[in-house]
Amino acid sequence: MADFSFQALANCSETKARVGVFYTPHGVVETPRFMPVGTLANVKTITPKQLQETGAQMVLSNTYHLHLQPGESIVGQAGGLHAFMGWQGPMLTDSGGFQVFSLSQMRKISEAGVVFRSPHGGEIINFTPELSIQIQNILGADVIMAFDECPPYPATRGEVQAACDRTYRWLERCIVAHNRPDQALFGIVQGGVHLDLRATAAEALAALNLPGYAIGGVSVGEPPELIAKIVAATTPLLPLDKPRYLMGVGTYREMAQAIASGIDLFDCVIPTRLARHGAALVQGERWNLKNAQFRADFTPLDATCPCYACQNFTRAYISHLVRSQEILAYTLLSIHNITELVGFTQKIRDSILSDRFATDFEDWLAPTDNS
Ligand SMILES: [Zn+2]
Repeated sequence: MADFSFQALANCSETKARVGVFYTPHGVVETPRFMPVGTLANVKTITPKQLQETGAQMVLSNTYHLHLQPGESIVGQAGGLHAFMGWQGPMLTDSGGFQVFSLSQMRKISEAGVVFRSPHGGEIINFTPELSIQIQNILGADVIMAFDECPPYPATRGEVQAACDRTYRWLERCIVAHNRPDQALFGIVQGGVHLDLRATAAEALAALNLPGYAIGGVSVGEPPELIAKIVAATTPLLPLDKPRYLMGVGTYREMAQAIASGIDLFDCVIPTRLARHGAALVQGERWNLKNAQFRADFTPLDATCPCYACQNFTRAYISHLVRSQEILAYTLLSIHNITELVGFTQKIRDSILSDRFATDFEDWLAPTDNS
């Protein structure tokens, strides 16, 4: 059995924030930490070497997308995701649940699983908890996720309750299907905006003694202030000695507030998606590099940022690349934006270690929805 232990090194004296180390077969993850998303076994426009230089320690990939293209058998023949994409650090695959429920057309949900039409070629795909785990066992990431039912927002309380109950039964099937001791299976707490349903789900999952836990089904359209409430109410119910992962969240304020509730890991497509729209994340702000003010600005994006883009290029040059739609623009902005968000969680980590988190991040912890 591989070592997937989580060690808490320090706790904030004013909030539930903690600093930890999560051990995986491909290395350690120092938490709290932002994880970039490499949907199709690549973080868009950057190489694994560039990714490593951002400070990212763990990377996500996507079961649903890889099942459709190139198919898990190709990845398996390559020796698994690490070998296929040339990333030797810790990796996580999601279960495909979120994509099956949010992206697929003509889907039909039953107790068995979800039947939908492939957007590639139109064939019928019968996605079940067993298939999700089988695909993830072949992909070979360090952490794999249970196949869950993510209810939409808004949904009736009855619909959310049914999704929670099914998610639990599907988790039991995932545990049975999972057959690789070098991969850790995390369970996912659903429950929509209903705090009592979240609590029931978290307590039921905690009793299963899984190697890690995630909070899913947030950031699906509910008001931003509800996210912090859900996370604050749910996270303390999850075991202290296991990593806690908030899925799909990656804005400054949401991460700071979730860390204050005891969350350790985050993922979001936001840094690379913003990069492809010509936008930079700079010390809590979003800048559109097409703006006229950057045309002849010969300073770095952020003089304090250690990334390759900030160390070697100016705002004027990146603005020019964005205006010209040069691919290098997206590479440089992705490198910077990922460095920025990983660096934000690293700064929070440092502040917890010196027990200055509540003071140093006071502005981000204030309950407004300006992200
Ligand atoms: Zn930078």
